[in-house]
Amino acid sequence: MVRLARPRSGHFDLGTGYHGDLWLDLDALFLRPSRLRPHVRWLGERLREHAVDAVCGPLEGGAFLAYAVADLLGVAFLAGYRSPGEVAGYHLPAVDGGIGGWRVAVVDDAVNAGTAVAACLEELRGRGAVPVAVAALMSLGEASAMVPARLGVPFYPASTVPSRAWPAERCPLCADGIPYADPVAQPRSA
Ligand SMILES: [Zn+2]
Repeated sequence: MVRLARPRSGHFDLGTGYHGDLWLDLDALFLRPSRLRPHVRWLGERLREHAVDAVCGPLEGGAFLAYAVADLLGVAFLAGYRSPGEVAGYHLPAVDGGIGGWRVAVVDDAVNAGTAVAACLEELRGRGAVPVAVAALMSLGEASAMVPARLGVPFYPASTVPSRAWPAERCPLCADGIPYADPVAQPRSA
């Protein structure tokens, strides 16, 4: 599946305040939804065990995936919209009657530093929902250990991809004066 995202090595500004050594073309990943169907099914099976009321995914890619998983499970779908003016702020749509007490899973395409997933969990808790799990097509670098340890929920990655990422101000590639590689697509959070 990682191959579908055409991975490239280099020095990249990940657009979330982090720099990393791997670039994934997440638009290429979603080009043919039928190729992702087995992976969507795998994510659905993991989340079914948590008896979720809704699946939430940050736009862009995470929301595509969350929509497909929510459809499979017959539960609600919550899009995480980027809050303008914040690097990693997300807000959820208004829901009649609110989402207080809902058991919600957060799904993303690729989880790296986990900024988007963390922001969605914070927004869900702020709305009174109960985040029960995080799932992703790809876990990059340290994410497999970081998500359960730092975010306090189980994490189900369908695949893991070795890579490194650093806060921009502590990026060793910048320190070595290595220029950015220029990804063809717009920077996308992971
Ligand atoms: Zn850098």
